[in-house]
Amino acid sequence: MKLSEMKEILSKRQIQLTKSLGQNFLHDGNQLRRIVDAGAIRPADNILEIGPGLGPLTELIAMQAGKVLAIEMDFRLFEVLKERFKTVSNVELLHADALAYLKGARHDWKDWKLVANLPYSVASPILVELAQAQACPERLVATLQLEVANRIMAQTDDDHYGLLTLLLQLRYQPTEIFKIPGSCFHPSPDVDSACITLVRRETPLLDPAASILFTRIVKLAFSQRRKMMLKLLKGSWPLDKLQLAFEKIGISPMARAEAVSLLQFVELTRMVSE
Ligand code: SAM
Repeated sequence: MKLSEMKEILSKRQIQLTKSLGQNFLHDGNQLRRIVDAGAIRPADNILEIGPGLGPLTELIAMQAGKVLAIEMDFRLFEVLKERFKTVSNVELLHADALAYLKGARHDWKDWKLVANLPYSVASPILVELAQAQACPERLVATLQLEVANRIMAQTDDDHYGLLTLLLQLRYQPTEIFKIPGSCFHPSPDVDSACITLVRRETPLLDPAASILFTRIVKLAFSQRRKMMLKLLKGSWPLDKLQLAFEKIGISPMARAEAVSLLQFVELTRMVSE
């Protein structure tokens, strides 16, 4: 979809873009193709797209996938999409707040992939919601703010390493990141952008009940970044149990959460739950 085509649709329908909904539309064909390629879409795949906007990504995905479920919150854009895709049988459009939709019911995303240029303001909660679903999608390909992308892809001791890294990497392995220049969007966003790919781990590191405990532990551990993790956790679990676990796992009692790896947090969760 060319920029001229986007501008024409917007002006014909007198649509003023809404900044708070993150309406920065991607019009660069190469970048759109790169995002779709990152989805490694097979003909039988079900693709979830959040925030289709005017549909430039939707139309490329629909050419390769078995089915596309595209959720758009802005009714004006939903109307445009309905018109554009009325003859495309494998595209299902939903007018909804995607975050509320994801939280609202238990969905089985096991055989789904996310491929989306997300609304930046809700990108993190959307990805966390999908990653924490009991049946989470097999792949997440998301365009979002570069700063958030760096947090998701980080490794221990990176400046960006933290809660978001752990909540996503518990279920997913980060595989690819590429930046997208602001000039590829209309209008150009105020922040830098990147597209990330996360692939679901073949074997979950923790079972569902332990994953809930993991979330509790990492949230508490990162609640005050500069504080020693042991001090933050000892209000919720017996100190001797924690000390023993720290020693066995090789975590210093003085360590801050940012120095503790994903696998150490996983091990800690297992030992605390015993
Ligand atoms: N996919 C299109 C593209 O690449 O050009 C548009 C991407 S734009 C960054 C984000 C889109 O998400 C906008 O169309 C916006 O209206 C929509 N949006 C914002 N918040 C949303 C929400 N909570 N649920 C669903 N869609 C939302």
